[in-house]
Amino acid sequence: MQLQKRLNKMIEPGGTIGILGGGQLGRMLAMAAAQIGYRCISYTPENDHVVGDVCQDVFVNNWDDAQAMAAFAKKCDVVTWEFENVPVEPLRPLEDRLAPHPRALETAQDRLNEKRFIERLGGRPAPFVTVDSREDLRQAVERLGTPGILKTRRDGYDGKGQWRIDVARDVEGIAVPDTACVYEGFVTFEAEFSVILARAASGARVFWDSPANVHRDGILSTSSLPSGKTIEAQIEEARALAAQVSDALGYVGVLTLEFFATKEGPVFNEMAPRVHNSGHWTIEGAATSQFENHIRAICGLPLGDTRTIAPGVEMTNIVGKDAHTAANWLDQADTHLHLYGKAKARKGRKMGHATRLIWD
Ligand code: AMP
Repeated sequence: MQLQKRLNKMIEPGGTIGILGGGQLGRMLAMAAAQIGYRCISYTPENDHVVGDVCQDVFVNNWDDAQAMAAFAKKCDVVTWEFENVPVEPLRPLEDRLAPHPRALETAQDRLNEKRFIERLGGRPAPFVTVDSREDLRQAVERLGTPGILKTRRDGYDGKGQWRIDVARDVEGIAVPDTACVYEGFVTFEAEFSVILARAASGARVFWDSPANVHRDGILSTSSLPSGKTIEAQIEEARALAAQVSDALGYVGVLTLEFFATKEGPVFNEMAPRVHNSGHWTIEGAATSQFENHIRAICGLPLGDTRTIAPGVEMTNIVGKDAHTAANWLDQADTHLHLYGKAKARKGRKMGHATRLIWD
């Protein structure tokens, strides 16, 4: 409630925004915040963070260092996150200044909670069964069939913590992780897309156009618009679910839901209670970016226009060693290169992205 009160009163430019996490999303949030006059500081356990170039201060401490967290929070008018696996318990003392509310983290950090939450709201997740042992997995595969994907309930991202099961005997060959999992039936989809929205404390809500997303090895490769007829026909239903999710969570900020477009309509894949990689195109491709609208929402400012400004937009992720040839993007018309300043181009690591606006 205290935050609600705070946001009915705008946080004045010049105020300090705390960002939990030190990755590229934090970096782009801080750049958007600076444009409209806010200062950012970051809190991250990672020494090799990429927010330092654009934040006034970086607290490098473990999440459970209560003293450091309190000292950080004391400097902030509002605290947000760029990383959805921030443990929730250490955030309890900060609740009066957190946006979005940490209940969004609690819901999204556990795939099982998330799927049940979506089902309660009338949405349709991929078919799933909980798995805590190899025997559970055998039974899950018997029930849902193959192919399917075993996923850890917590801490998975970019295809990590996932094992594909093509035939039943694969169950005997994989090292079933020593942690709670779900087995998901493989969804036969025609395309993938995301719904990205920003919601203000007042309940006002805006959506960006939904891009078609293509993944490679479990990592987003491209997001493009227009997204095509199959996706366009399913956006209304997907948006209605995303709107319900944001209302149910009393959400403030940018929220992303990922969907499979199937013959039977949109199937929910997962949600991210934060700005999202499939929204990076909005920096140059929309009237207001996802990063700026997140800052506006958590500071109690009016949300900006989300219109797409070109007939076509394509965002391509620059992953791993492709970073070494990233400068090639600079030769192309109306193409905007972003590099995140990461020192090592490890395999599968997101190093940057390029957004191309397509006018003909
Ligand atoms: P996730 O990290 O769960 O979003 O998975 C990354 C990507 O793997 C998705 O965007 C899909 O391309 C693919 N994938 C994950 N789960 C499924 C599923 N149940 N059926 C089909 N493809 C999936």
